Amino acid sequence: MIRPIRTLLVANRGEIAVRVMRTAKALGLRTVAVYSQADADALHVAVADEAYPIGPAPARESYLRIDAILEAAKKSGADAIHPGYGFLSENAAFADACEQAGIVFVGPPASAIRAMGSKSAAKALMEKAGVPLVPGYHGEDQDAALLAREAERIGFPVLIKASAGGGGKGMKVVRSAEDFPEALASAQREAKSAFGDDKVLVEKYLTTPRHIEVQVFADSHGNCVYLHERDCSIQRRHQKVVEEAPAPGMTPERRAAMGKAAVDAAKAVGYRGAGTVEFIAEGDHFYFMEMNTRLQVEHPVTEAITGQDLVAWQLRVAQGETLPLTQEEIPLQGHAIEVRLYAEDPARDFLPQVGRLDHLVLPSHLDHTRVDTGVRAGDTVSIHYDPMIAKIIVSGADRLEAVRRLEAALAATEVVGLATNRVFLKAIAAHPAFAAAELDTNFIARHQDVLLPAPTPVDDTVLALAALFVLKEEARQSAETVDAADPWSPWGLAPGWRLNRDAHVDLTFADRDERIAIRAHFRPHGFILALPGGDVAVEGEAEADGSLRARLDGVALSARVIRTGNRLTVFVRGGEHAVDFIDPRLASQAATGTAGRLVAPMPGTIIRIAVEEGQEVTKGAALVVVEAMKMEHTVAAPRDGKVKALKFAVGDLVDEGAELLVLEDA
Ligand code: ADP
Ligand code: ADP
Ligand code: MG
Repeated sequence: MIRPIRTLLVANRGEIAVRVMRTAKALGLRTVAVYSQADADALHVAVADEAYPIGPAPARESYLRIDAILEAAKKSGADAIHPGYGFLSENAAFADACEQAGIVFVGPPASAIRAMGSKSAAKALMEKAGVPLVPGYHGEDQDAALLAREAERIGFPVLIKASAGGGGKGMKVVRSAEDFPEALASAQREAKSAFGDDKVLVEKYLTTPRHIEVQVFADSHGNCVYLHERDCSIQRRHQKVVEEAPAPGMTPERRAAMGKAAVDAAKAVGYRGAGTVEFIAEGDHFYFMEMNTRLQVEHPVTEAITGQDLVAWQLRVAQGETLPLTQEEIPLQGHAIEVRLYAEDPARDFLPQVGRLDHLVLPSHLDHTRVDTGVRAGDTVSIHYDPMIAKIIVSGADRLEAVRRLEAALAATEVVGLATNRVFLKAIAAHPAFAAAELDTNFIARHQDVLLPAPTPVDDTVLALAALFVLKEEARQSAETVDAADPWSPWGLAPGWRLNRDAHVDLTFADRDERIAIRAHFRPHGFILALPGGDVAVEGEAEADGSLRARLDGVALSARVIRTGNRLTVFVRGGEHAVDFIDPRLASQAATGTAGRLVAPMPGTIIRIAVEEGQEVTKGAALVVVEAMKMEHTVAAPRDGKVKALKFAVGDLVDEGAELLVLEDA
């Protein structure tokens, strides 16, 4: 029976909510969003026809509240709810509650969610259905001695997994029997705290496997197909970083075998809708790992190679239609790769970052490039949710074409305000082993040195572009207002200075702790910059959006410089480097004594005080280090002086704007 969906509520946020609503709108549906207090101005709210507040920022109090979401569904007249991924998407009680409220849950039956919700129970089921399993133990008995004996039987190394697990939590690799008891206890603790259930399973740890998963789709008329596979072998800490389709090296026979195993798995639990059967593959073997009973983050690569819209398929199936295509009709064309752009700092062990996206350029303008995102420039990445900024998906006629486009797409991506994994992803895309499809789950660890190089000092090209940007910006400003307040400012040079062949200014930049002074000599069409590596003739134009068309000793370059406060982030040749401009005017203000107050840049904890009362300091010296959100911020001396008073001690909490110390003239 067809039960038409006219109004769709999306019980999610961010990119997946936006993506689902795009398809719903294209199909002529009315869309309803829900939002937490943190998301009142979020993109998914702006895209929706209607949006309902469901509670405070923490997910527990909003996006995980079944009652609040059903209330919004009733108020809005929604006849279906799409759960996206994460949050309530694999929550059987939610699927049941929707059913009871007479609302279509766009997902599998609650019974299928339950059957696959426990990795152990799912493995037992799959064993019966004849789906191959990694050798292991997935029984009910959780006696520690028994688990240890099972580990011995399986043979080390083994992997302990939280049965209720997800997102890599509660997973421990154990290399020897001595390590087993402690690893077990720690896996159980993690499982208990993350999932409220300390049940574990133990399986053989494969040392160089690939993660290959199969997209399945079933309708309520007994049809079930697979839409080929995805390779998600490039992972960090068992979490996907790069995903692609099809899997390199996949033969048609193997695809058919894995496809059949996946369809068998889905049929064994009476599946309906979109699902993913995850396999781990090594050599000629593949084994069932788990089934994700929802739309997957990486579904766009499947859409790219099949030309299908999986959300449209979900909605059709949910309203009782048959699958749009039979197995034989499902296309497989070209190659697609997705990367997850995250607000995280690779230099600090990928610590998630929070803060404002001061500047954001995503490569959706490039051909064969799709960007799924839930944020815009000016939005904030908060501590409450997943710090994913966007998914970037490229496709090509073949894998190498897609790989080249991936590199170009990442080169065209610009984020200022937060550290991201962009450069790390780009290094993966550029790695010869990636081009050669040498994929397994150790890829990142194996190529770590190349993928995560030590920071390099700023180069002359970046300095030249930063200097050109500042000079152009200052020229524009001084043309508007001659700086009467500060007659000594080098920027206050009277109009006509361009004619004076000896006119010059000294610019100072800071690259982390290093100061770099650059003398710029004015020339009729540009400047000669005395850079660390020698003189360079620089000319060019800067646009209001920070774009630079520059010539460095005649070589034309496109670049972008984004200024936030005194920080200049220079994007050039696909790389990026941030330097601080030491503004001479701010320094001269400080010298007049009005700017003796040194304040905390953000609320945080004092973690280091580098000076003592009475100590003389030189301009630029580090004074106090404040830590907030695990980020360190160094407060430096704006001028030479003497520390008159320290207001806090190490360990003290400070508010933003709190005066940290008083600097007086030496
Ligand atoms: P999650 O629920 O966190 O997704 P999975 O069971 O899907 O947990 O495993 C996540 C990842 O851990 C896999 O993609 C794979 O890289 C790795 N992994 C899982 N099982 C094994 C195994 N038996 N041997 C080696 N690696 C494994
Ligand atoms: P996939 O196999 O689809 O990549 P993941 O295991 O990576 O699935 O998880 C899917 C996404 O959902 C991830 O981005 C993860 O951070 C997010 N997620 C999972 N659980 C939650 C949750 N409870 N709240 C918010 N986001 C979640
Ligand atoms: Mg998984």
